Amino acid sequence: MKRSRRVKILATLGPSSNEEKTIEALFRAGADVFRINMSHASHELMAETVAKIRRVEEKVDHPIGILVDLQGPKLRIGKFAADSVMLEEGRTFRLDDDQTPGDATRVHLPHPEIIGAVEPGHRLLLDDGKIQLRATAVDAGYIDTVVVYGGKLSSKKGVSLPETILPSGALTPKDRADLDAALKQSIDWIALSFVQRPEDVMEIRKVVQGRAGVMAKIEKPQAVERLEEIIRLCDALMIARGDLGVEMPIEQVPGLQKRMIRIARRKGKPVVVATQMLESMITSPMPTRAEVSDVSIAVFEGADAIMLSAESAAGQYPVEAVRMMDKVAIAVESDALYSGIVRAQAVEPEATTADAISAATRQVAETLNLAAIVTFTHSGSTGIRASRERPTKPILACSPVKETARRLSLVWGMHCVQTDDPIDTEDMVKRACDTARDHGFARPGDSIAISAGVPFGSPGTTNMLRIAYVNGPADQY
Ligand code: PGA
Ligand code: MN
Repeated sequence: MKRSRRVKILATLGPSSNEEKTIEALFRAGADVFRINMSHASHELMAETVAKIRRVEEKVDHPIGILVDLQGPKLRIGKFAADSVMLEEGRTFRLDDDQTPGDATRVHLPHPEIIGAVEPGHRLLLDDGKIQLRATAVDAGYIDTVVVYGGKLSSKKGVSLPETILPSGALTPKDRADLDAALKQSIDWIALSFVQRPEDVMEIRKVVQGRAGVMAKIEKPQAVERLEEIIRLCDALMIARGDLGVEMPIEQVPGLQKRMIRIARRKGKPVVVATQMLESMITSPMPTRAEVSDVSIAVFEGADAIMLSAESAAGQYPVEAVRMMDKVAIAVESDALYSGIVRAQAVEPEATTADAISAATRQVAETLNLAAIVTFTHSGSTGIRASRERPTKPILACSPVKETARRLSLVWGMHCVQTDDPIDTEDMVKRACDTARDHGFARPGDSIAISAGVPFGSPGTTNMLRIAYVNGPADQY
């Protein structure tokens, strides 16, 4: 399954797309990685969905990535006695630890630890920021607020506290249970919502223990402030624009998105741009011009992956949405300005053997106009460094580790293949040429660049660059 683009597509699964045949259709339309959202999926549904994806993977004979997204400390208010209440600007409103159903003057906040963390002056944003309260007084068991922007408020709506550092750890008891259940399945990435501090990433890493890649979702201003440290500790990043646009002034999100993509690219951490990319396709077979432009910006910026949320999980046109993303990405990447723009953000190799080889491989492949770059990678880290170079030539990542091939399917420009470890250099050359040819990346008579680590089979030793001539299938090497 050869894709015609470098950027990857991540599609969230849900009621519109949980069927095995839809998952297959989504893959064929262009989805490289599937996301299972634990805010909505039970453990049973998650396990079933993983099994379905793995059956599709077997059928299409191509590694597929699976991302399990943990809900994180998402806060919600309690219930009202009536369906909803009207909050009027300038009036006072109390959030407290009393479970009695609320009214227009008060409501239960079922997170006692939060009450103590709020300070007078902090804002509380409810229902995706549609309602804004400002804390005026905090005491044991309650927060008194004044309504800044009022409106209709119904039970169980979300609460964001952009100015408050939440005392809770990164993993709620639900997240911990979801994480344990997910790690029992063959999944490749774990995303953590509402990361606030580098310690949050450390905490989840300790549990995951390398069994999946850890993706930090950046959706809180506290995380934005400590971005560099968080990026250093995680394996990948998601720019979670939905909650980010509630917790921060929405007009700052585009600039932040650009900044985050650039930092992630500099550090060589895969970065996903998420939320509302083709939002109108939830109910319409065609996106708006603005949405197409939004997708194109992420592609032009060199993001690793672009994500569909409700469009593929709960919308009426899941397959069409993937197809549309695919088309937009292909058009952008063949635009005359594309390679210049991606190149303008090119980053210097770090002073490591892997980076030096990756940079040299890119240069050789481009200077000699080779058909492809083939890189042998165990853990995937060399594969990611090869992608960090953003070469104009296709990259094939060959790994003897199935999990590595799956994990790398999120990474920009990577065509992932599971192969056996080469036994010697000659075998490596043959394998690389055969793979490039059989997967449609090179024709007999072309040449390719190969990077690998010798001795084979020992991870973290990328130290070799080779140029090889591709023969026909039956030729001798
Ligand atoms: P969510 O994360 O869909 O889990 O909320 C993405 C976002 O907030 O943008
Ligand atoms: Mn979110």
